[in-house]
Amino acid sequence: MAENSQEFVQHIASKSENFSQWYLDVVLRAELADYAPVRGCMVIRPYGYGIWENLKGLLDKRFKATGHKNAYFPLFIPGSFLEKEAEHVEGFAPEVAWVTRAGNEDLAEPLVVRPTSETIIGHMYAKWIKSWRDLPVLINQWANVVRWEKTTRLFLRTSEFLWQEGHTCHRTKEEAEEEALKMLEVYRRFLTEDLAIPVLTGKKTEREKFAGAVTTYCVEALMTDGRALQAGTSHDLGQNFAKVFDITFLDKDNQLKYVWQTSWGVSTRLIGGIIMVHGDERGLAVPPRVAPTQVIIVPIMPPPHEETVLAAARDVFERLDKVSRVEIDAREEFSPGWKFNEWELKGVPIRLEIGPRDVKAGKVVLVRRDTGEKISVPMDNLESAVTDLLNSVQEGLYARAKQFMDENTHTLVDYEEFKAVMENKRGLIYAPWCGSDECEAAIKEETAATIRCIPLDAKPSDEKCIYCGKSSTSGYWVYFAKAY
Ligand SMILES: [Zn+2]
Repeated sequence: MAENSQEFVQHIASKSENFSQWYLDVVLRAELADYAPVRGCMVIRPYGYGIWENLKGLLDKRFKATGHKNAYFPLFIPGSFLEKEAEHVEGFAPEVAWVTRAGNEDLAEPLVVRPTSETIIGHMYAKWIKSWRDLPVLINQWANVVRWEKTTRLFLRTSEFLWQEGHTCHRTKEEAEEEALKMLEVYRRFLTEDLAIPVLTGKKTEREKFAGAVTTYCVEALMTDGRALQAGTSHDLGQNFAKVFDITFLDKDNQLKYVWQTSWGVSTRLIGGIIMVHGDERGLAVPPRVAPTQVIIVPIMPPPHEETVLAAARDVFERLDKVSRVEIDAREEFSPGWKFNEWELKGVPIRLEIGPRDVKAGKVVLVRRDTGEKISVPMDNLESAVTDLLNSVQEGLYARAKQFMDENTHTLVDYEEFKAVMENKRGLIYAPWCGSDECEAAIKEETAATIRCIPLDAKPSDEKCIYCGKSSTSGYWVYFAKAY
């Protein structure tokens, strides 16, 4: 068993040679998730779910700090609801799962398993909101959603996934716009500060925006294979859903008006992002702030020192338990070397080694997952050394990812170069675009690259469009990439 497992840990595909196999190997062998018997669905295993719980906790705190409260709406939505908003139904119809039968009876009205909840929440808001005094409504829901995807990949695209969806109503257009941008900023800070993932922020083009939104804002991250990942979106819904679901309020001027709405969400695909941004040839590297285990203690116990070392390791555990998420791996059936491999594969930020000589010298060895650096630390200031090192690993991961993103962002004005970059090294391309849907579509058709975002501070471009060569007053410098 031990021998087989040893091979198991060491055999993950080479990241540089076969990125997608490496990704799957990491997901499966670090025990983050597994395939479910239903095609396209995923089982999130305790280690992967532990990351989700930490991520959820940090994000939830940020939502509450900005005035939002959590609620829960049903999984099933009357089919007719989805059909009320034309763009919305067109956008989601191909991937909607329906319930048409319950027990032995066909349902009078078929139900949709929520692909997102704008419609059902809109229906409820119409009931709850009467006056300007009821506004703003700032609600978030943590839930699962179902989108019947044709091609799936664990965490990145699965038929069922976990997410949060915020749904807000406001008195004025400006307030809704402000909210959509505020939540974009919440996501940006969460990604950079908690997940150590640098991002671009901006808005989507008409082609790429959410079905039913006026404007879709997004945070986009660059994976280490040169593809972009849409990490989160915040939609300014205008009055589109308010008009369809008749969400009105009596304003201060005694006029009946439609509310202005936003919705915003991030999902379990962020775990896929963590893997692809921070992982390396040895496996996963989890940012300390979301790591289920931040410190793994590996006692090195050659006979006859088992008792002494184990006692010292337990003492270290007791102390670190007060300042970090720490575990001790005292399994006797595995060698220290095997354990080092396993915890590296799982991406635990700090490994703490303690052997007979360390016990005697009153010190321990800390090993950083991001750089492999070994640091000898006296027992006396163990707590502060570990706390500092966790911060340092968090910063180190961010710095490495930021450097990668900067090095793989290419500013181009020539389409031949554009095509060459997309074919060979990928990455982000910052290029001028005339604003036309035709050019955007043609670039996608020819290179598989899409416009990831129009930067928020984008100024009209004086350069000619990288595709058609025409100047346009509606043109911008935008970011292109192949995306997940
Ligand atoms: Zn053009």
